[in-house]
Amino acid sequence: MSRTGTLYTVSAPSGAGKTSLVAALVESSPDLRVSVSHTTRAMRPGEQDGVNYHFVEEQTFLAMLERAEFLEHARVFGNLYGTSQLWVEEQLGSGTDVILEIDWQGAQQVKRLQPATRSIFILPPSRETLLQRLTGRGQDGQDIIDRRMAEAVEEMSHYVESDFLVVNDDFEQALAELKTIVSAHRLATAKQRESLAPLLQQLLS
Ligand code: GDP
Ligand code: ADP
Ligand code: 5GP
Repeated sequence: MSRTGTLYTVSAPSGAGKTSLVAALVESSPDLRVSVSHTTRAMRPGEQDGVNYHFVEEQTFLAMLERAEFLEHARVFGNLYGTSQLWVEEQLGSGTDVILEIDWQGAQQVKRLQPATRSIFILPPSRETLLQRLTGRGQDGQDIIDRRMAEAVEEMSHYVESDFLVVNDDFEQALAELKTIVSAHRLATAKQRESLAPLLQQLLS
């Protein structure tokens, strides 16, 4: 029996560091990939279509929605965001673990559809630090930063729905904690039963 991948969601208020942490996690973990969402928001300086997001017009997004191509979707800060169902299914089916960097509304939808999903919530060490990171990233205008700060408390109030909580104060420590979550899950008996099937058969026959 071949191994089925695990689905993870990572949520956090904008600026908490989830994109940087997930990028570092994926880089150091074989068999773990991050889903590239579709979005209608404007591209930031330095972002690339197909790398950070698939940037699409609202009309295209709505047509994809109509064709049921999204595993989940949500409107966040006035823009539409969605996860490709086909891509996620292909990865999980081939034994690759998948991370979705999505907001709490999306994480709720995914958990309902696939209860085995492991959800991770990332918190900033303080509100002041969150504002500093949003500002320091230097990619959003003041009006966008104000809106994201105003919605941060609402996003953070959903921490209770997640399986794991990580505080991103020291980057390396937060990264180590994310690695531990993924490693521990891979060692769970239900997962090991699949990947160790030949060994178990030999030992027990
Ligand atoms: P950043 O997270 O601050 O870099 O801001 P983004 O503009 O990249 O993302 C805005 C919000 O949309 C965040 O809360 C993301 O978690 C969320 N988001 C991104 N992609 C998706 C997606 O595919 N589905 C859902 N539901 N939310 C998403
Ligand atoms: P998000 O994807 O949650 O919006 P980012 O990954 O874009 O957040 O991080 C926001 C900013 O904070 C970036 O400029 C990033 O380099 C910085 N940052 C992330 N984690 C830390 C950390 N632990 N200490 C200091 N700066 C950080
Ligand atoms: P940003 O536009 O700054 O990259 O992301 C803003 C927010 O949108 C973040 O909270 C991010 O997690 C969320 N987001 C990004 N992609 C998706 C997605 O595909 N689905 C959902 N539900 N949220 C997303």
